[in-house]
Amino acid sequence: MSAYKIHEHQYDMLVVGAGGAGLRATFGLAQKGLATACISKVFPTRSHTVAAQGGISAALGNMGEDDWRFHFYDTIKGSDWLGDQDAIEYMCKEAPAAVLELEHYGLPFSRTEEGKIYQRPFGGMTTHYGKGTAQRTCAAADRTGHAMLHTLYQQALAHKAEFFIEYFALDLIMDDEGTCRGVLALDLSSGELHLFRAQGVVLATGGYGRAYFSCTSAHTCTGDGGGMALRAGLPLQDMEFVQFHPTGVYGAGMLITEGVRGEGGYLTNAKGERFMERYAPNAKDLASRDVVSRAMTIEIREGRGVGEHKDHIHLNLMHLGPEVINERLPGIAETAKVFADVDVAKAPIPVLPTVHYNMGGLQTNYHGEVVTLKDGNPDHVVPGLYAIGEAACVSVHGANRLGSNSLLDLVVFGRAVANRCAATLTPGAAHKRLADDACERSLSNLDALRNAKGSTSTAELRLNMQRTMQNHAAVFRTGETLSEGVKKIREVHAAFADVKVSDRSLVWNSDLVETLELQNLLGQAVATMVSAENRKESRGAHAREDFAERDDVNWHKHSLCWVDGKGETRIDYRPVHMVTLSDDVEVVPPKARVY
Ligand SMILES: Cc1cc2nc3c(=O)[nH]c(=O)nc-3n(C[C@H](O)[C@H](O)[C@H](O)COP(=O)(O)OP(=O)(O)OC[C@H]3O[C@@H](n4cnc5c(N)ncnc54)[C@H](O)[C@@H]3O)c2cc1C
Repeated sequence: MSAYKIHEHQYDMLVVGAGGAGLRATFGLAQKGLATACISKVFPTRSHTVAAQGGISAALGNMGEDDWRFHFYDTIKGSDWLGDQDAIEYMCKEAPAAVLELEHYGLPFSRTEEGKIYQRPFGGMTTHYGKGTAQRTCAAADRTGHAMLHTLYQQALAHKAEFFIEYFALDLIMDDEGTCRGVLALDLSSGELHLFRAQGVVLATGGYGRAYFSCTSAHTCTGDGGGMALRAGLPLQDMEFVQFHPTGVYGAGMLITEGVRGEGGYLTNAKGERFMERYAPNAKDLASRDVVSRAMTIEIREGRGVGEHKDHIHLNLMHLGPEVINERLPGIAETAKVFADVDVAKAPIPVLPTVHYNMGGLQTNYHGEVVTLKDGNPDHVVPGLYAIGEAACVSVHGANRLGSNSLLDLVVFGRAVANRCAATLTPGAAHKRLADDACERSLSNLDALRNAKGSTSTAELRLNMQRTMQNHAAVFRTGETLSEGVKKIREVHAAFADVKVSDRSLVWNSDLVETLELQNLLGQAVATMVSAENRKESRGAHAREDFAERDDVNWHKHSLCWVDGKGETRIDYRPVHMVTLSDDVEVVPPKARVY
């Protein structure tokens, strides 16, 4: 029996996470008449989505010809053919309605002269299947995520969803049949434990960017949902695909949105050369992110980087003029000033590819239901468990996400979960009795960490993990760096048994919370490194120098990686969905990916 007193709550649905994905699901579920609670470790409007700058994609055609089928094609090509084409069709077709819905909920989009939603070009977004440039990314200046979070939080409050703010979800409560029955959480302000019973749990906990040393992600991006899933015995999908954004501020990691290049900004090397013309003759600076990040890395390696150490690249926007900068990119001007001491009207911004987005995550179908490989079925639905947003891998982004497709993914699949639950659940249905020891696994983990009296601090272990990931699972990878990386990351994982937590308290104990977050990060760091070493081809963001080509014969498949508490791993695969949901589009077979 546990020594902890646990408060119990019962809802129809519980959403963990109040970023764009979690909030869209929360109010959608409440709107459908399901009693819904949302728990978040940070105040909802401080969730990482607040940082999203450039915008959300949808083929509205407000600023030139567009069609959701072009968007469908671009997303498949951007994914380097690893994305599931049924899910991509669903997302791109739903996109215009999802964005107009946001507009009607009050999202303050920037406007064209005629009062329509303003749309800017983004990398890899084209018309006529690669022939023209699409203006598809709907923007609220360069603060789209901020505007989105406020709009969605207001809707969630209006629909009477209940919020448990600054509650830290510890673990999923799974029964013996593998059904998710709820979540155990820690109230950070009182130190008390809460068991949330629900017919369904939606994980919307965001990405795990903080597994790396230099990233654009907030400190809260510790992939807690992925960690909980691994502890529940579920695999994570396509973890080798980590997106490096081309333009993180050199030395600081803060993001400079791709919207800057969409508005006409361009990259130069030490010779002042617009080198992207050599790597992507058509799309140039607006090629997809993996292509631009690799080109920048090659320029630096070959001695054409800028600065004293020739180790970064310049992003130029001086020529855009104050009108475009002040109206369309005000946040960028401020970021450049604060983090690089650069006046963008007078000098280029020093930039470097920086970890930005996780394509991998919990495997789901396009309804947002978590699925897994079971008894030979690659699409077995895990009852009671859903995942959306960056925590999930639907997979619409495949091996490389196109910019502005994440905000879209959040709202489309947040809404899809609400629709699915409304169709399959009965409001107020009775909860099954839980076994007396249902929370034991989680409580004993908490207890062990509270009392961890090892010799290595959480901060030291985290730094070792971050440096290992940064050095061994980088923009370019080789068999040698990866196998060394696997060895080192396993050592860091093993060293977690020797962690030292200095304060036993459960109230506002940042040392304990950071240790719980590190535990979550470590499982995902191991999954990323092992999956990357295992995949012997280059595809999207996974660029192997020893296997430089994409290999569709052997590797046109998703990786699944299980990591147990000791860091032991198992890899398996599932096929890419090469089907569409309707006759409106045809499957796009793999071909060479040229920009
Ligand atoms: C700087 C930057 C700019 C970007 N710009 C764009 C853009 O212009 N367009 C675009 O499409 N994409 C953009 N992206 C990507 C996009 O912003 C993210 O992928 C997306 O916002 C993730 O949203 P989310 O809802 O999945 O997670 P998040 O917004 O990260 O929210 C996660 C939520 O989960 C909660 N949570 C996590 N763990 C726990 C736990 N253990 N217990 C309780 N709660 C928990 C957090 O409190 C938070 O509420 C950008 C990313 C960055 C880094």
